[in-house]
Amino acid sequence: MNKKTIVFATANAHKVGEVRALLSAADSRLAEKYEILSLTDIGCTDDIPETSPTFEGNAMQKAEYVKVHYGYDCFADDSGLEVHALGMEPGVRSARYAADEGHDHDSKANTAKLLRNMQKTTDRRAQFRTVIVFLSDSRKEVFEGICKGEITYEPSGSEGFGYDPVFRPQGETRTFAEMPLAEKNLISHRGKAVRLLVDYLIREAE
Ligand code: IMP
Repeated sequence: MNKKTIVFATANAHKVGEVRALLSAADSRLAEKYEILSLTDIGCTDDIPETSPTFEGNAMQKAEYVKVHYGYDCFADDSGLEVHALGMEPGVRSARYAADEGHDHDSKANTAKLLRNMQKTTDRRAQFRTVIVFLSDSRKEVFEGICKGEITYEPSGSEGFGYDPVFRPQGETRTFAEMPLAEKNLISHRGKAVRLLVDYLIREAE
C-alpha cells in the first residue's frame, strides 16, 4: 500500500515521536497509511520565520513554508502560556519572555520573570494553548487545544520543561512538573490538539 507522506514542521524529534505513537495507538493500521517525517528527515535546516502575533499565524507560516519549498502536505504547531492578569502574555513570546533581560530561550529566566510580574496579583488564572495548522493541496485545517489552570507562587517539580514547574492544571494539586509525562499528555494543550489532528487523519484515511 502507498503511504501518504506528511511532514511535521518541527526539528523536535520528541514531538514527532509523540504524533507517530498517537497515530498507531489510535489504530495500528494508520501507521501503515501515514508516514510522518520531521524537518530533519527531509533535510530542511532552514530558519523558518515565526513572526506572527498569533499562534495560528505562526503555525501557518511554518506549514506554508514547507508546503511551498518542499511540496509536502504538512502540519505545524505553535504553543504558549497565556496569563489573565498579564493581558494573556507571554503568549507567542513564551519561549523568549526574558529575552529583554539577556536570556533567550531560557526557561528558568522566563519563569522567574513571570513570577516577578505576578508578585502583587492574586488572580493566578492562566492557560496553555496549542494551535496546529494542517495544509494539503486542497485543505487548511486548524486544531486547538487549551489547558486551563493557574500560576503557583513558586516553582515545584522537576519533570517537563518551560513553565511546567509553575503551572497547576485545573482540578489538580500538582504542577505539570510534578506529573509523569504520560499523565500530563492526557490533559495538556498539546495532547488535546494532537488528538484532534489524529482524529482528522483517521477520518481522512477512511
Ligand atoms: P512550542 O511552540 O511548543 O515550542 O512552545 C513555545 C514555548 O511555550 C515553550 O518554549 C515554553 O516556554 C512554552 N510552553 C509550551 N508548551 C509548554 C508546556 O507544555 N509546558 C511548559 N511550557 C510550555
